[in-house]
Amino acid sequence: MKQKLFLIIFLLIMILAGNNVAQDLSYYFPKEAVFNPEIPKPEDVLGFQVGEFHASHDNIVDYFRHLAEASHRVKYEVYGKTHENRPLTVAIISSEANIKRIEEIRKQHLQLNDPSVSSKLNVADLPVVVWLSHSIHGNEASAVNCSMLTAYYLAAATGKEMEELLDKTIIIIDPATNPDGVQRFSTWANGNKSYMTNPDPASREHNESWPGGRYNHYWFDLNRDWLPLEQPESEARIKKLQEWKPNILIDEHEQGTNASFHFSPGEPSRVNPLVLAENQALTQKLANNYAKAFDEIGSFYFSAERYDDYYIGRGSTYPDMNGGVALLFEQASVRGFVQESEIGLLTFPFAIRNQFIGTVSTIKTAFSIKNEFLSYQKNYYLSAIDEAKKETQKAYVFGNGNDRNATFRFARLLNIHGIKSYLLKSDLNAGTHSFNAASAYIVPLDQPQYRLIKSIFGLHLNPKDSSFYDISAWNIPQAYNLPFETIKTYSGVTGDIFSADQLPKGNTIGSGTAFAYILKWEDYNSTRALTRLLNENIVVKVAGKSFETLDGLKFGQGSILIPLGSINTDQAKVEKIISEINLIDGIDVYLLNTGDNMSVDLGSSYFSVITKPKIAVLTDDGVNAVNAGQIWHLLDTKYKIPFTMLPLKAFRQSSLNRYNVIVMPDGNYQDLDEKVAGKLQDWLATGNTLIAFENAISWLNKNKLITVELEKDDTKAIGYNYENSLLFKASREVPGTVFETRLDLTHPINYGYQTDRLPVFKDNKIVQLKAENISANYPVWYTNSPLLDGYAPAGFSKSLSGTPALGIFGSKKGRIIAFYNNTIFRGYWSGTSRQFANSLFFGDKIRLSSGNGPD
Ligand SMILES: [Zn+2]
Repeated sequence: MKQKLFLIIFLLIMILAGNNVAQDLSYYFPKEAVFNPEIPKPEDVLGFQVGEFHASHDNIVDYFRHLAEASHRVKYEVYGKTHENRPLTVAIISSEANIKRIEEIRKQHLQLNDPSVSSKLNVADLPVVVWLSHSIHGNEASAVNCSMLTAYYLAAATGKEMEELLDKTIIIIDPATNPDGVQRFSTWANGNKSYMTNPDPASREHNESWPGGRYNHYWFDLNRDWLPLEQPESEARIKKLQEWKPNILIDEHEQGTNASFHFSPGEPSRVNPLVLAENQALTQKLANNYAKAFDEIGSFYFSAERYDDYYIGRGSTYPDMNGGVALLFEQASVRGFVQESEIGLLTFPFAIRNQFIGTVSTIKTAFSIKNEFLSYQKNYYLSAIDEAKKETQKAYVFGNGNDRNATFRFARLLNIHGIKSYLLKSDLNAGTHSFNAASAYIVPLDQPQYRLIKSIFGLHLNPKDSSFYDISAWNIPQAYNLPFETIKTYSGVTGDIFSADQLPKGNTIGSGTAFAYILKWEDYNSTRALTRLLNENIVVKVAGKSFETLDGLKFGQGSILIPLGSINTDQAKVEKIISEINLIDGIDVYLLNTGDNMSVDLGSSYFSVITKPKIAVLTDDGVNAVNAGQIWHLLDTKYKIPFTMLPLKAFRQSSLNRYNVIVMPDGNYQDLDEKVAGKLQDWLATGNTLIAFENAISWLNKNKLITVELEKDDTKAIGYNYENSLLFKASREVPGTVFETRLDLTHPINYGYQTDRLPVFKDNKIVQLKAENISANYPVWYTNSPLLDGYAPAGFSKSLSGTPALGIFGSKKGRIIAFYNNTIFRGYWSGTSRQFANSLFFGDKIRLSSGNGPD
């Protein structure tokens, strides 16, 4: 008994001395609030107070399930799954009566977006729809933890005021927009929590290990993916969002520990030109109320600076292109539980309370001026049609008959964004391009998503400002390397409206006894077709020269030859894979009866055997996690080829003999010493391929593995006063801009391209000086006036013109392929990612001018 008493006293002392920062619910909620005791509080389900631990994603789902079971005001839905099989969810909260007929309300709300019926709607009869998005960056935890408070408050608060609000307001809570990131971060924060809380910013608790919880499973920043939809979280969310078209969306984030609270509007000079003035006026009305709410609790805040509404693939801008008003919250981050900041101790509950105060202010403002938001949405779509009718160009056309899968992918992307496209019915010449029937699409401008179409197809040149929070260019056809043009009329050329069953299906072309099969290398899915063969150890060859069969079929360099009749060929297995390539990859395969060709017979030495790449990709501290994640995602989910993620520690210590391709993502490799450089050199000497991205080049240069002289920007801020010199600095950055390159189509790095012009994405200032005009080493050059889209600093395009966009360097029998840009940017730059594929599969075929490489 005595022992027990001691234990209790000891635990009490621990708890008191531990400076537990948790607060009970009265800290967050208005004093006058009265709650329905039937509704479970977060601690009733979780066993801890909000803010006492970091709620895991499992905790969040558990709480919302219990809440929805207990409350008639809450409907909880799963709308998708993450890579790690976690549910993506929304809780729809409104009055009991509204929840009972929620589907009817949703359908009625959607009519606001349809100008053919919206004029009949009286907005006074409709509830306003508010969408709350939490912690799309999984380590910005105050938001996700706030989501439970908001849900409880709305579900449990009693009284006339709440009932009136819920009668006119539908609140859609996405409690954790990035479940895998939230789970990873909460595990870190709780796993490093001490009973004696420690506010030291340098402590482990406040410094996550690589890659951190910001990203999703493949280390993608989901808050850049609202437009390209490379990740399942994004695709599922946009589908749900398009089902609802909220009037207001709040995207809740965190920023640096020493900051205050930011709410929209962002920097006025960087509002996307397609965002309407009325949108910004409504944003300001919300902002005025935030200021009042934060004044009341004494929290500092700022708006109209730093962040912006320019790139439309972020959560605080995308809804602006969909008839809504989107705003950003950025709360100072505690990371763990309590952290020293410049103005004192920042606690986790304090951060959560700020998010809650902002959230409730949003809902109240939405309710109080709901008709303004609803009318805005109605007019947004009416005026979209009016503006589209004034255009002299009436539609876009896009497509590439040789890359049907990329063409289909783009039409599918447009469809998810609520944009209608139609198969081209008959061949069409437009601008400098010819489009073939059934392998191109027409996108009419006079449809409700007119502004979104303009933003996706349009160019973003001559912006008003010269500094950007994110990228300055996002033309998707350029990223997919798809030809596109505007047309003055589309009457008579539109066929069937886009549907998923237009997914390309390939055929086996030719009949009789197969001597060999050939597949072309021009399609988005060609790489996947090749890895099907390589993964099954089928011997395949690549054509180093274009050729023509006796029947007049033409094949380009890079075409893949599957020889039959070889000693070990299992013909039945080959035929099974070919049928998969036809059916699943949607690619044609050609059956040849003879090895005799018009030019280059199949037995020619121009065909060389493809060595199956055994790939290692460097990871961990120092490596750019986002770039490494893009490579992981590409190899694992698109190319579907096994590979090793090799942490730098293991890279230093283990033998490299099991790999023939090593990829160094962008990053800072200064911790790797000369010994590692020597080891890499020995590995290269046996004929292997090293692929390096962006800043990895500095390490290779420093360790003399390559010699590249880079341009230095020594422009000085002459004529700028002290305050504006900051702007000058930003104006010298390349924020994410598209430039044009010229290709040597005969070079293995460029196999599969059909024209010698290729847009590349650039968000760095790497410019090589003094390159000799040797195509073997430099097969990709910037054109004379290379700027295609976005912002470039004064003089930058000129210094870029005529310089190489990548370099290939010999190292004894091996070679180093250095990409000066991220050719697989955010996963959707599939146009340039072909060069990465070519370096993986054909890198060892490159003959260098120095005599290195195979002869
Ligand atoms: Zn964030």
